[in-house]
Amino acid sequence: MFESLTDKLSSALRNLRGVGKLTEENMADALKEVRTALLSADVHFKVAREFIERVQTACVGQEVLKGVAPGQQIVKIINDELVRLLGEGTNELSSARPLKVLMVGLHGSGKTTSTAKLGKLLKKRGYRPFVVGCDVYRPAAIDQLEILAKQEELGFYSDRVSKDVPAIGAAGLAAAHAANADAIFFDTAGRLQIDSDLIEEVKKLRERIKPDEILLVADGALGQEAVNVAKAFHDALGLTGLILTKLDGDARGGAALSIKSITGVPIKFVGTGEKTADFDTFYPDRLASRILG
Ligand code: GDP
Repeated sequence: MFESLTDKLSSALRNLRGVGKLTEENMADALKEVRTALLSADVHFKVAREFIERVQTACVGQEVLKGVAPGQQIVKIINDELVRLLGEGTNELSSARPLKVLMVGLHGSGKTTSTAKLGKLLKKRGYRPFVVGCDVYRPAAIDQLEILAKQEELGFYSDRVSKDVPAIGAAGLAAAHAANADAIFFDTAGRLQIDSDLIEEVKKLRERIKPDEILLVADGALGQEAVNVAKAFHDALGLTGLILTKLDGDARGGAALSIKSITGVPIKFVGTGEKTADFDTFYPDRLASRILG
């Protein structure tokens, strides 16, 4: 994950780490390299600029140049800023029980897979998960959800005849209550792009089921495009969290690093592969240390 960013950052910081005496000049050079590394990882330019400004301010505030082991201090400051950028301490799910989660996202982002993955994760944490298939436009999506639900032993409800999404949601909720489920996921339809019909339908479903969480599943390999998608969904629906998928492949890191600060919505989970086990809670501090290598 993010190997290229890690390579570039380590080369920018290599010269600083062991340095006993640092000048304003070589610090500025190193920060310039850090900025370039962020930009080439497809981090939004405003985010990269603010990042460098914050690091500079912290360096001045902590009088890094006068201190001992200034190189180490800068690396620590950069680490802390990365954690802040990734969304420090904001990844908890609502503690409501039953927990109702509305899953939204564009087609192909990994929404259905992530629904099953999250169900599996919460099952391990002692929940009784239940999934409701609300994608009435693609019977194959409902089949896929049903297969995954069986495989992971999650409760399942859908209706392959009705096209009334809010009614399916309400019936799914009733079925989940009857099954004594306490984590209920609604897998909604995705389109190739965000359109008003899709949003209107999700809004009606939201009205009916009153979710505790609205999670957007976004393809992390899309870089800045994932950030734009998240912003549009958040403006329309008021998201409570993000699931960033496909961070295994060739994701460069730009989406993960920009999405919280551009949208204000925290990343709560990440998908790191096709299997249902390739999924985890998002830990900003762990990712920051990995990025810094
Ligand atoms: P949906 O249309 O948004 O419901 O997307 P799907 O759940 O059907 O996923 C689309 C494709 O992406 C499938 O082939 C999934 O196996 C794949 N996929 C989903 N999440 C990940 C991930 O984290 N990593 C990788 N490599 N593939 C993923």
